[in-house]
Amino acid sequence: MSDYSYITEALYSGETVRGMSLKPESIPCFLTTAFTMRGFKEVQETYATKGYTYVRTRNPNRTALGEVISCLEGGEASLVFASGMGAITSTLMTLLNPGDHVICNANIYGETFEVMTEILPKCGVEVTFVDYQNTDDIAKAVRPQTKLIYSEVLSNPTLTLVDLEAVAKIAHDNGALLMVDNTFTTPIAIRPIQFGADIVINSLTKFLNGHSDAIGGSITTTQALCDKIQPVAMLLGTPGDPFSSWLIHRGINTASLRLPQAMHTAEKLAKVLSEHRHVSRVNHPSLSTYPQKALADRMFGKNGYCAMLSFIVPEDLEKIDQFMLALRFPRYAPTLGGLHTTLSHPVTSSHMGVPDETRRKMGITPGMIRVSVGIEDPDDLAADFENALKVFD
Ligand SMILES: *Cc1c(COP(=O)(O)O)cnc(C)c1O
Repeated sequence: MSDYSYITEALYSGETVRGMSLKPESIPCFLTTAFTMRGFKEVQETYATKGYTYVRTRNPNRTALGEVISCLEGGEASLVFASGMGAITSTLMTLLNPGDHVICNANIYGETFEVMTEILPKCGVEVTFVDYQNTDDIAKAVRPQTKLIYSEVLSNPTLTLVDLEAVAKIAHDNGALLMVDNTFTTPIAIRPIQFGADIVINSLTKFLNGHSDAIGGSITTTQALCDKIQPVAMLLGTPGDPFSSWLIHRGINTASLRLPQAMHTAEKLAKVLSEHRHVSRVNHPSLSTYPQKALADRMFGKNGYCAMLSFIVPEDLEKIDQFMLALRFPRYAPTLGGLHTTLSHPVTSSHMGVPDETRRKMGITPGMIRVSVGIEDPDDLAADFENALKVFD
């Protein structure tokens, strides 16, 4: 019989599991906001060795997931965040000071663009946007204050490729860092560090988790830089929570199986669409008609190019609507990188706010449909698109 109330006993039960010397085969989810200590000696040791204290500072599920990402990206260390945007903003806030200058690819993810145009100027940082197709223009935009050059590997939704090696050279010749968003491509297709990137960011929400059920982001860079970014992230409140990190860890473990399959299916779909009478253009690096084919073949490895593609049908919004309704499998979704194939219509969603003339210059017309390819059987998926395209007959 206990001397304490059952209420108190219940609160302190589970002690044998908590002080675990178990060896679980998979990583458990550490759903705890803190790790307890006993006595000043243990408290001092834990803080001195950067052990686990409070969840926003460090958490075992983030550590474990970060190790997986470091392996995949081929980088020294990684940090895990509550979202891709958390990873981007925390890194920029750490690296940049008032008076600094950033060069950014003009064709980037919408919210990253807004950070560059709305948040960084408030911090006294100037941003110059450059079309990265002409690397000479990047070199021309460099100033003595240029600290950072920012890019994605493939642009959304036109899938224009950036010559990372050339951009890295410009950055390093001028004492700047190259930061690359690898979300569309993932380290299964390309590892930007091999091409000279200093910092790689991923939205884990997309292909790397791949199951459309968690939001997260990461950065991969040197240990020294991670050690600088981690305390800033802790203050900004951007680190990821244990459960999302655990879910993403579970998802990322099959990325090496899912992604080559999805990229293979994307290649097959791109080919079928490119031969279709109602499709005037398909953007995918696997196609022989891809304008940067030689560069793509130099940059991408054996696993594939990417699981994203876009294509152009006649500019008839009513027919495009009918086409989307006629598809048996893909649904419209304002995200990408899931198990199911999803699509979006950039002109009425992600690029709604961009003037028509500017959009057309970027290659984004009202006939463009963007596809995030999932893991369906390639023949089934191609047949579904061919059938739905009959609405244009
Ligand atoms: C989704 C996305 C992001 C932002 O990631 P979140 O996890 O949604 O914050 C950044 N870059 C690219 C290319 C993306 O597709």
